[in-house]
Amino acid sequence: MKTHAPIINDSGPSDAGQDAAGRWRARDLAVLWHPCTQMREHPDTLPLLPVARGEGAWLIGHDGSRTLDAISSWWTNIHGHCEPRIAEAIARQARTLEHVILAGVSHAPAVELAERLLAIAPRQAGRAPLNKVFYADNGSAGVEVALKMAFHWFRNRDGHDSGRTKFVALENGYHGETIGALSVGDIPLYRRVYAPLLVECLFAPSPDAYLAADGVDAAAHAEAAADALADLLDRHRGDICALILEPRVQCAGGMRMHDPVYLKRVRALCDAHEVFLIADEIAVGFGRTGPMFASEDSAVMPDLLCLSKGLTGGALPLSAVLTTQTVYDGFLDDSRDRAFLHSHSYTGNPLACAAALASLDIFASDEVLARNRDTSKTMRDLAAGIGRHRHVADVRQAGMIVAFELSRDGDKRTPFDPALRIGLRAYRAALGRGVLLRPLGDVLYWMPPYCIDAAQLLQLAEVTLAAIEEATACA
Ligand SMILES: *Cc1c(COP(=O)(O)O)cnc(C)c1O
Repeated sequence: MKTHAPIINDSGPSDAGQDAAGRWRARDLAVLWHPCTQMREHPDTLPLLPVARGEGAWLIGHDGSRTLDAISSWWTNIHGHCEPRIAEAIARQARTLEHVILAGVSHAPAVELAERLLAIAPRQAGRAPLNKVFYADNGSAGVEVALKMAFHWFRNRDGHDSGRTKFVALENGYHGETIGALSVGDIPLYRRVYAPLLVECLFAPSPDAYLAADGVDAAAHAEAAADALADLLDRHRGDICALILEPRVQCAGGMRMHDPVYLKRVRALCDAHEVFLIADEIAVGFGRTGPMFASEDSAVMPDLLCLSKGLTGGALPLSAVLTTQTVYDGFLDDSRDRAFLHSHSYTGNPLACAAALASLDIFASDEVLARNRDTSKTMRDLAAGIGRHRHVADVRQAGMIVAFELSRDGDKRTPFDPALRIGLRAYRAALGRGVLLRPLGDVLYWMPPYCIDAAQLLQLAEVTLAAIEEATACA
């Protein structure tokens, strides 16, 4: 097994494999337009990694070289690539029922998955539990569903002059890139160009602990952010139908973490203002931050819970919006346009539901959450060493997420000149050493599949340090 195979330098174990990789690269660049990529930069500034197959935390090239998937392929892959039990469940389902319309039709995987998601969903004392599941087929679509449901619920209740037409979201939040989801996101890179197309959203200050002033702890900073939110809700009394946030970690916003007290406060404020609380756990759901769902850290149950990414173990696209009897009842009527007509062709796809059921079985049989607690400790110990690097301004962790904030002088006040593209340099340096990191700006992070083992974690830590060293050598 070759663990440190160079990807950029051409000295792999098999010439034939290298040739194959080169041919796939060329064919790719002739026809594919890659997501989230300035294509002009392929393949010189930005390398392109052809992958032949996956195995656990490894991505394996045509020449047999191994690259560690340290970001779970955009945070989706939680049990490792080609997990045999998930593969088998999909194969079995494909021979049984591959897909069927979900309007007016039912199938066992969709029903069983809904039952099991509701059984493990966050609960809160004194609240009627989440008890209905609406499927869509990707994270952004799930967010659209939740936003439209909240808006439509008030329309149904208050009629067309319902003033509740606005959403509240957090600064630096991310909820996907379709027009509605983009409207409630606050990352300029994705949002700026499309601003004229977006629906109105009010942004509240982020509880992000990294933004806390010197001497202010994370909890106090979160309380202050909640106070500011309270003011905003007061000023817009009667205008708002829902508030959407990412509990615990603003992932795409740079793995920025906040104290769980914030969500507790938000829950109370939403109740006081009769605003629906939408928890977007698309990235943090399914054990990523420790508990099954990040809302549990705050002992809070949202009115709408968006799930995707890890839902199928990373095997197939699927999303689910869990909600309450109260929300559901708001759509019951004789009239068609009071119903929630939102639909996608592949809603509740049986293959994806079967994969999700297999993933939930793995959580139970492999005691994944308990194992993650041990893995998180190892990650914490390894990260501490990297935190001492002179260009690391902050190391933060929430369960199976660790992030390193890089800066010129190793403090919060001296970010690197973006033109240096330190993050991109680190990406290339790590890839050349057999690790796929995909920094968010100058934030490097680990978000590995839960099956990552001790040897792989050690490689990850060594390569991360080497990548930081190489990337910052220009500064
Ligand atoms: C990835 C993500 C989305 C969007 O999901 P897609 O499947 O990529 O559309 C929404 N919200 C959060 C928090 C995410 O991380």
